[in-house]
Amino acid sequence: MSELWKLGITEARAGLAKGDFSSVELTQSIIDRVRDRNGEIGAYLTFDEEGALAAARANPKGVPLAIKDLINVRGQPCTCASKILKGYVSPYDATVIRKVKEADFICAGRVNMDEFAMGSSTENSALGRTVNPCDTSRVPGGSSGGSAAAVGGDLAIAALGTDTGGSIRQPASFCNCVGVKPSYGRVSRYGVTAFASSLDQVGPMTKSVTDAALLLQALAGHDEMDGTTPDIPVPDYAKALEGASLKGVKLGLPKEYFIDGLDPEVKAITDAAVKTCADAGAEIVEVSLPHTEYAMAVYYIVAPAEASANLARFDGVRYGHRSDKSDNVFNLYARSRAEGFGPEVKRRIIMGTYVLSSGYYDAYYGRALKVRTLIRRDFEEVFKKVDALIAPVAPTAAFKIGEVQDPLTMYLNDLFTIPGSLAGNCSVSVPAGFTASAHLPVGVQFIADAFREDKLLRVAKAFEDCV
Ligand code: GLN
Repeated sequence: MSELWKLGITEARAGLAKGDFSSVELTQSIIDRVRDRNGEIGAYLTFDEEGALAAARANPKGVPLAIKDLINVRGQPCTCASKILKGYVSPYDATVIRKVKEADFICAGRVNMDEFAMGSSTENSALGRTVNPCDTSRVPGGSSGGSAAAVGGDLAIAALGTDTGGSIRQPASFCNCVGVKPSYGRVSRYGVTAFASSLDQVGPMTKSVTDAALLLQALAGHDEMDGTTPDIPVPDYAKALEGASLKGVKLGLPKEYFIDGLDPEVKAITDAAVKTCADAGAEIVEVSLPHTEYAMAVYYIVAPAEASANLARFDGVRYGHRSDKSDNVFNLYARSRAEGFGPEVKRRIIMGTYVLSSGYYDAYYGRALKVRTLIRRDFEEVFKKVDALIAPVAPTAAFKIGEVQDPLTMYLNDLFTIPGSLAGNCSVSVPAGFTASAHLPVGVQFIADAFREDKLLRVAKAFEDCV
């Protein structure tokens, strides 16, 4: 059986069940593909060939996955693409890893990312360069750029990414795959290296909406190791897709998302996606999320504040890199961090420490939390009127490697994904078409109310069936 690496989860499972090929053959096919293509694409940082084949031999239903290099898998590296964790090997499985293993997935390789998930292009990785498989002169997006490049370039059957402000949805859009950011609390964060704990979620990056539903099924649910995962039932997501249709679905078009900064080609694809939904029977309603303009400012207070606290643990004592140039304990902390963290991570730690410092706490952090509540209420109000929202994912398609140098311009990539992250609802990026000029993939975003992934995926599936 040739080219098994092309398969998604659905086809791989069907082929395994029918006995068309074995899990070992499937895994070997991915290994061959990675050997062939990873030198150019750079999606994987490491690949455990022996371990993956052993797991495939042990489980005839095993389907290999690519794992973003900040999720702990026992016995594998977990670097967060940072020099500070180079050489670190994880002693335990994250809850999501335990769950995907129970659901017959194999944790085969570790994929690249922006250092500690801070960035939108994967150019902030300290450990390697990843390019976009659709156009290798361009970035794959970020921070889950390795996951997106692996899936989009057929170097993986599916992948796990994480999304704090857009890091699953934007790279999915750039690399022509499906990416789901689950509602905050739907998926356990235990064993997932924290960036901003009130925003981070693990989610599937896949070749189809059905695959995303299957992988989300494995990930979702209450975990006693993560107090932010409520004990509410997990629907059968694959079942929710049966007979998916847009007929009579009320889709909100948030007017604040159609602004000047939106690239005309991306706008054209988004407009066409809206028309596709309308033609398929959806009722399109213009809605307003009036506090959208503050979302970026709120995010760049809240996320760095939490990051500055979360990253304090990397001090050269317990994990990873330790400076050998220090003669006292203070220097040991300071030098290990100065040598280990890259520039974007340092920028976030400095910003976060500043907004939390006494005298500024109320003015920045306290106010940001209040505005965050207003942003969340905007969504709660519109979801009383519509089933889901339809919006762009990112203002542009994939940009050239090295093209965006200014950090503030880079931050604008997440303009349309950050509000939903702050609100804690669920959203998905689904491939919607290609730009006319450079033939680059562009996704469209659907957003649904918190814990309504069933509804979200049903809309996404119905749309996918139309394009
Ligand atoms: N690009 C955003 C940032 O740099 C979001 C990253 C993410 O979602 N992990 O913070």
